[in-house]
Amino acid sequence: MTTISERLQAIRSRIQKAAQDAGRDPESVMLLAVSKAHSSAELQAAFEAGQRAFGESYLQEALDKLADLRTLPIEWHFIGPIQSNKTRPIAENFDWVHGVDRLKIAQRLSDARSETLPPLNVCLQVNVSEEVSKSGCAPADVAELAHAVAALPRLKLRGLMAIPEPTSDIALQHRQFRMLNTLRESLAQQGLALDTLSMGMSDDFSVAIAEGATIVRLGTALFGQRQKRADSEH
Ligand SMILES: *Cc1c(COP(=O)(O)O)cnc(C)c1O
Repeated sequence: MTTISERLQAIRSRIQKAAQDAGRDPESVMLLAVSKAHSSAELQAAFEAGQRAFGESYLQEALDKLADLRTLPIEWHFIGPIQSNKTRPIAENFDWVHGVDRLKIAQRLSDARSETLPPLNVCLQVNVSEEVSKSGCAPADVAELAHAVAALPRLKLRGLMAIPEPTSDIALQHRQFRMLNTLRESLAQQGLALDTLSMGMSDDFSVAIAEGATIVRLGTALFGQRQKRADSEH
């Protein structure tokens, strides 16, 4: 049995190696621990092993853990699909939201973000595996959405996020991640400089780092397999 602390250490060194292989500073890649389906006690163990940023996908489950762990200085990221009737609790409780893919959701998050908190960090989710329609803004629509979101008062637009189609085709993994990086570069040319590319999960994070990821979102590699969840929130 390996402990969470050993797994964290192993992951950190794989991230470091992937960054070095890509000629990048390892400090430029942040590990987001995706803790959905894992208990508050497991999160606490990861926290005690030095992990500070945690990603959750299901609102009610996340709010329960936030309550359990409220005394710890954790940076909470909401990475799940965002229903428009859930924007208020998300805006009130999280530090980051990764899955913003339409202006209406962004506006509601901005409206609900309290003046007493710093602006909410957001990433725009882009559908980089175009043929399948999933969540995510179409690549052709990213620029317009980005400019509109950047103008909202209580949000801080940080970057782009993608969940590519899972594939064992390494060249395809590279292409999908590269598309996100290319979109970021074209936004920068339009005067919208963003510092974040949230991409890469347990099975493909080394490729994502090679293509410029600044946040990798790892669940299974860190906490082990998740139990299948009865999906009551959707
Ligand atoms: C569950 C999830 C992850 C983590 O996936 P693993 O394959 O377990 O690393 C990353 N990002 C999002 C958006 C997720 O929903």
